[in-house]
Amino acid sequence: MENKTKQFHAILNKIEDYDKILILRHQNPDPDAIGSQAGLGELLKNRYPEKSIKLAGKSFPDFHYIAEMDEISLEEFQESLLVITDTANRPRIDTPFPIKDNHPWIKIDHHPDDEPYGDISYVDTTASSASEIIAEMSILLGEDLPMTDAAAQVLYAGIVGDTGRFLYPSTTSKTFMIASKLVEYTFDHSDISNYMITRPIAVNRLAGYMYQEVKISVSGVASIVLTQEILKQFGVSDIQTSMLVSIPGTFEAVVCWGIFVEQASGYYRCRLRSKGPIINQVAKRHGGGGHPLAAGANAYSLEEIQEILQEFEELVENTSK
Ligand code: AMP
Repeated sequence: MENKTKQFHAILNKIEDYDKILILRHQNPDPDAIGSQAGLGELLKNRYPEKSIKLAGKSFPDFHYIAEMDEISLEEFQESLLVITDTANRPRIDTPFPIKDNHPWIKIDHHPDDEPYGDISYVDTTASSASEIIAEMSILLGEDLPMTDAAAQVLYAGIVGDTGRFLYPSTTSKTFMIASKLVEYTFDHSDISNYMITRPIAVNRLAGYMYQEVKISVSGVASIVLTQEILKQFGVSDIQTSMLVSIPGTFEAVVCWGIFVEQASGYYRCRLRSKGPIINQVAKRHGGGGHPLAAGANAYSLEEIQEILQEFEELVENTSK
């Protein structure tokens, strides 16, 4: 705890050295990416009203209920300290301009630290979410970084998002403790949970298709390929498929699964999930990474998808031995 507080103080000390702070997160964001980014932004705006605190990254209307992004000029970018939340590796950072090697930057993340970066790197893989880390930072730093209603709201959204509403095993007693502290602030937490389960009509129709079409092997490996044609037919974007990732796992007997989303350029984004077997090693073998039970990769052909599924089959077989 003391060591953590020290590390959080080191982050704050570095932030104090700069007038401009730019907070970034990963490409194809999810509620935790936006929640941790915006939550840190709100905490810093409250603590340092004289500083310029901005959020950057591609804008996604589906996440405007959490936060919207700021416009950044190249000059501002060059003068800013970058704080990157929820992003394991450099290529996945959603940045408006390339980051030069000598740019001052800080990493705050909860993914396995396979590709360290940043002048300061704070990685806690036991945290359910990057939002949990940002909230913990405020709790441990107390008056040095006080919590606000606005920060509590977006951090809570990030935690709810990454834990599947406190469902996934990454949810710990600390997660509940932090969430319980956040709901002491003034915001409508049930509104946020409702937002998370309310999906656009097109996405729900595609969910119906997935419930019908998902393939399940004898050993409990589930899979579905969402082609560009299917996405167009249902009017659903690649980023919106994040709302459907848990569907195969709701089938009895499914142990691990992949949703393979064809991209406009032809390759497949693989959304991989597991209820037990550790799958991020499979993801790494296919150009990806992520958490032990929630990972992602890229497959460049239907054959490569079959390879991933075969590796899942072997994992399930080895795990049940
Ligand atoms: P997703 O299915 O996009 O929600 O991703 C699940 C987890 O896997 C996230 O925590 C990501 O950080 C990680 N991930 C997804 N795609 C990649 C990738 N191409 N490379 C490394 N990690 C990834």
